[in-house]
Amino acid sequence: KNHLHHIIKSSISATSSKIGSCSRNTRTLSAVRWNSTNVATVDDEGLVVQSFRSKSHIPIFNLCLGGNEPRLIAAATKQLNTLPFYHSFWNRTTKPSLDLARELLGMFTSNEMAKVFFTNSGSDANDTQVKLVWYYNNALGRPNKKKIIARTKSYHGSTLISASLSGLPALHQHFDLPTPFVLHTDCPHYWRYHLPGETEEEFSTRLATNLENLILKEGPETIAAFIAEPVMGAGGVILPPKTYFEKIQAVVKKYDILFIADEVICGFGRLGTMFGCDKYDIKPDLVTIAKALSSAYMPIGAVLVSPKVADVIYSQSNKLGTFSHGFTYSGHPVACAVALETLKIYQDRNILDQVNRISPTFQDGVKAFSSSPIVGEIRGTGLISGTEFTDNKSPHELFPPEWKIGAYFGAQCEKHGMLVRVAGDSIMMSPPFIMTSNEVDELVSKYGKALKDTE
Ligand code: PLP
Repeated sequence: KNHLHHIIKSSISATSSKIGSCSRNTRTLSAVRWNSTNVATVDDEGLVVQSFRSKSHIPIFNLCLGGNEPRLIAAATKQLNTLPFYHSFWNRTTKPSLDLARELLGMFTSNEMAKVFFTNSGSDANDTQVKLVWYYNNALGRPNKKKIIARTKSYHGSTLISASLSGLPALHQHFDLPTPFVLHTDCPHYWRYHLPGETEEEFSTRLATNLENLILKEGPETIAAFIAEPVMGAGGVILPPKTYFEKIQAVVKKYDILFIADEVICGFGRLGTMFGCDKYDIKPDLVTIAKALSSAYMPIGAVLVSPKVADVIYSQSNKLGTFSHGFTYSGHPVACAVALETLKIYQDRNILDQVNRISPTFQDGVKAFSSSPIVGEIRGTGLISGTEFTDNKSPHELFPPEWKIGAYFGAQCEKHGMLVRVAGDSIMMSPPFIMTSNEVDELVSKYGKALKDTE
């Protein structure tokens, strides 16, 4: 079953016939990328046309139930046959949308949440967050309390506001971003940024002090919210150092600043807890979710709103007569039906137990390569992992940029049949939740081979 040639051959024959029957019948199958976690068929124009194995996965943190989950396909089909669309505006909504909102409010337990606002993605959910925060402060008569603090190396999306919040220069350069109301504070990457002799706790204290100094410099009356991913994902899988969120939350609370938890990657089990907030004892006022919410089968995101914020927004909207924010496809019934079924599958399959059962093999297996001479740091938790390549184990001894070492490693992985996400001199992995232990072993072995080739 796991033999390369067998899989390629059988996959080609299984797939060719299906491709042949579609309208793009002039295309021939020219490449198959495979392994137990990544399988997609690519046609002669390089277009991905089909994934065909239940564990197929792409390294973008979302296809958590693999590429061929019959229950999700059935849920979408059933909803399409029942009610393909109705809007969620003007005091109308659909049953899947309401059911999903109720389910989500029950699932998020680290702080009480009162309302759910559905979006189409993580990016427009984070845009919505900023609008909610502004609306909230306007309603409270605090028109100057509008600035948002995010962190260097964070990723919050690609729309105007969410790209501004993101702390990655490539998202800003040439786009005239970030917008002036967004400020960035330190990235909490202990290995890279700690001072000589500084402990993790001392590092966290310094970052909290820096955050407080930034707030005081700008004026607390101008700072509306702080946004953070519990574990930074696209910035390179950066875990919070000890006591970090405890100290940051204390500062944020002191100045009446709302805490937005961006759970787009961490939410629904990737870290081995249902939400990243559970793992790091974060008590947010607002939460952003997407990705694993539908295991990537439908585009959907959402904002969870605590009673503290929701009550103010409600009474203000009642005064104004309406709350004028929404997307045509907010709460799309098919997306909601698929998301509901995704959450049911997570429950039925005890997905947290499953993630916690396989993640030690994944984490320990990958971290066993930490002594490689080209590895600076391997980090991760649950089913997310990042590797940063540097020389001499030093965060400060980078390889020449023209070596493109991350991309080179990515190419070696692909040669061995595995897709990883490359970001500069780092690579990231986010396998599906449903991997078996044997498949995790296979992944680790391919990672090791790619590392040897890169060395
Ligand atoms: N927030 C985080 C933490 C993300 O990782 C992402 C996407 O990777 C987003 C927001 C944006 O989500 P989307 O790509 O669905 O717009």
